[in-house]
Amino acid sequence: MAPAKIVIVGGGFAGVECARYLERRVGPEEAEIQLVTPDAGLLYLPLLPQVASGALNPRSVSVPLRRVLRRTEVIPGMAVGVDPETRQVIVRRHSGEECAYGFDQLVLSPGSITRIQDVPGLHEHGFGMKTLSEAMYLRDHVLRQLDVAAVRGEEDIDRERLNFVTIGAGYAGTETTAVLNKVCQAAARRYFPQAESTMVRWHLVTHGDRIMPELGERLGADAKKILAQQGIELVSGASAQEVTARGVTLTDGRHIPTRTVLWTAGVAPSPLAGHLGADTDHGRIVVNPDFSVPGLRGVWALGDAAAVPDLAAGDGKTCPPTAQHAMRQGKHMAKNLLATLRGGPVKPYRHPDLGLVVDLGGKDALARPLKIGLQGLPAQFVTRGYHLGALRTVVARSRVAFDWAVHGLSGDDFLRIGYGDYPTHTIGGFEQTGCYLSPEEVELRLKKLCEPGSHGNWLA
Ligand SMILES: Cc1cc2nc3c(=O)[nH]c(=O)nc-3n(C[C@H](O)[C@H](O)[C@H](O)COP(=O)(O)OP(=O)(O)OC[C@H]3O[C@@H](n4cnc5c(N)ncnc54)[C@H](O)[C@@H]3O)c2cc1C
Repeated sequence: MAPAKIVIVGGGFAGVECARYLERRVGPEEAEIQLVTPDAGLLYLPLLPQVASGALNPRSVSVPLRRVLRRTEVIPGMAVGVDPETRQVIVRRHSGEECAYGFDQLVLSPGSITRIQDVPGLHEHGFGMKTLSEAMYLRDHVLRQLDVAAVRGEEDIDRERLNFVTIGAGYAGTETTAVLNKVCQAAARRYFPQAESTMVRWHLVTHGDRIMPELGERLGADAKKILAQQGIELVSGASAQEVTARGVTLTDGRHIPTRTVLWTAGVAPSPLAGHLGADTDHGRIVVNPDFSVPGLRGVWALGDAAAVPDLAAGDGKTCPPTAQHAMRQGKHMAKNLLATLRGGPVKPYRHPDLGLVVDLGGKDALARPLKIGLQGLPAQFVTRGYHLGALRTVVARSRVAFDWAVHGLSGDDFLRIGYGDYPTHTIGGFEQTGCYLSPEEVELRLKKLCEPGSHGNWLA
């Protein structure tokens, strides 16, 4: 018999875990495994805020797929359509060409995207925190504001640059705000005159009155206390109404002048979920407890993109979109695929919540392993231990541990890489060969800069 064709869509926690488990238990004569993903590595998203803060190097948190997967064929590209009738997936490769891949079993784990609401100006001026590039770009942008404010000395504009606003107080928003606030405070203390260092202000805006509701009442209150001690202003009961290049207007009418609006107000399932012809629940693909998609034979879905019934919670809800569930679902999916190939029974997914960990920078951390609430150093110990254990290779663990050690000993170097400094990605753009002025232009420009009210606003 020809080997079964298994196509997995999405190289995140769920997809990679599924491929990894499968390829160790299924021989090439039994199944061919293909993984469609635009990424070259498995990105460990929970550590993204630490990339933005500079505590970790970007390469440390992305595990190359070539290291984790031995015989899975990785197809670089996006799955842009599925035909369940003829059992084919259309993949748009990075080259732009489209190819069709046939399957016997299709596993959909394309994860989620940032949920963008219809806020005017958000698309153009907001920052996200879902990819490595966004984390690096945000760090550079924040450091650029500090660098520029340090030499300008015009109070209103400096204040605008040194105000930072995060909309959304889930894990991603709260952790990023806390760690970047620490970076800004440290930079301000070391490099700014005293008067300016007090101008650095991070605002964390949440539509309810709680932050990270998953923490529960007590730890949630502790989190608020820690943020207040760090000097972060919590704005409750509001969201963004309009974002411009120079500020954000909140739904409660308040206007905050700023050049940095970080949008972390939730995630939405991958748009692929809505293009299958299958039922969806809040955009997630409705699945049975064994991950099979009702009505589509040989099609399965899991991770953030699927509404998997949470049998362990037993309250009729679906599993929350977390890395913890995605990883375990990936492994369980592989077991069910094995059972299907070998004619055995598939099993429903059931996984009790093991708790959560939150890193707010330095010694500030919160954790609730197995329902035990922890704070401070013990929580930081559990948090970092959990992340090290969850990273998939020894090399990745070593890189992260090394970065933490070096950063702990030496502190931040506040170094900008230069993302966003250059208008293009060509040689001329990077080397800025076109920025020099002719003698006539110098004369004109100087005249203009000497006019009253001119701010000499040449740096973004
Ligand atoms: C900043 C941040 C911090 C977080 N912190 C935590 C935390 O502390 N604890 C926790 O439990 N969870 C955390 N999460 C959530 C957690 O990371 C997600 O729940 C988890 O990544 C979901 O896994 P997944 O495999 O479903 O999707 P992902 O890990 O997002 O992977 C999806 C993959 O599919 C690819 N893909 C997308 N569309 C297509 C397509 N059409 N074709 C092919 N490939 C596609 C993507 O490029 C990606 O590789 C955090 C998330 C973020 C953004």
